[in-house]
Amino acid sequence: MDEVLYYAGADIGGTKIKFGLYKKGVCSEGLEAKWDIPTDISDSGSHILGDIAVSLKKVCADRNIDYSLIAGIGIGVPGPADSCGVVKECVNLGWKNVDVRGEFRKISGIPVVMAGNDANVAALGEMWKGSGCGFDNLVMVTLGTGVGGGVIIDGRIHPGSTGAAGEIGHITVNPYETEMCNCKSRGCLEQYSSATGIVRLAKQMMDISGEELDAKTVIDMAKAGDESADRAVDKAMEYLGMALSNIACVTDPQVFIIGGGVSAAGEFLIKKIEKYYNMYSMNTLKNKEFKIAGLGNDAGFYGCIKMVMDNA
Ligand SMILES: [Zn+2]
Repeated sequence: MDEVLYYAGADIGGTKIKFGLYKKGVCSEGLEAKWDIPTDISDSGSHILGDIAVSLKKVCADRNIDYSLIAGIGIGVPGPADSCGVVKECVNLGWKNVDVRGEFRKISGIPVVMAGNDANVAALGEMWKGSGCGFDNLVMVTLGTGVGGGVIIDGRIHPGSTGAAGEIGHITVNPYETEMCNCKSRGCLEQYSSATGIVRLAKQMMDISGEELDAKTVIDMAKAGDESADRAVDKAMEYLGMALSNIACVTDPQVFIIGGGVSAAGEFLIKKIEKYYNMYSMNTLKNKEFKIAGLGNDAGFYGCIKMVMDNA
């Protein structure tokens, strides 16, 4: 008989917790189930870990899976998580100093519990099952409301000493910026290359009052040939290309994966990013591969599963 173990992933977002349950046997393996539940952020997010355990038990019972065969779970959190699985602060969840590993092990009885930053686990997920398949050194950038990032070195997340490595969105790209970033610094990548940043640039460069303006509209206008919209998108991607060329000097990845809502613009963006990346890169680092992310919102739980499978 095939000896089977299960590995779970739970990617905690501000509104939803996305789950994946992975079956690993000697003869076969694959995703057994995926589902999500709402994130209950009441009472400083103190119900979240309990909700995850309850949901996992329920799905196992519904599918006749022996819960005790779950060998490990990876948990993705929207904030920095240190190597001991402790989350100092997660503003979106109301968390302060939550020992995810210790607490969840107690609640769930699952032997191996790991916690990782959501952008970092998404990068690992893309490496394992998405556009980064076949690579083991990659950098993923997520262009959404903000700019997130994850660095994979030799097949593993590089979390840094406090779990804040890969915070690509707060690389300084313009020392002369006067507006403040959410992080209290100025001139961060996120202020230009996120969906919010693209709209901000567009409002500066386009002659429109535009309360209705969103990043997709700006990009669609640029694609359709609107010159000032194109200038705004071009500027946003120039800053991104420049930041990625700086990142390449430190990490020298095989491939850059571009994800998040803005990445739906596809090749149009990739072409611009590549152009500026090569413009700012030193010779030996030019002509890296750039790919659009392949897993969408599933990247997080896939990465959580991979993270714990590699360590259980
Ligand atoms: Zn910032």
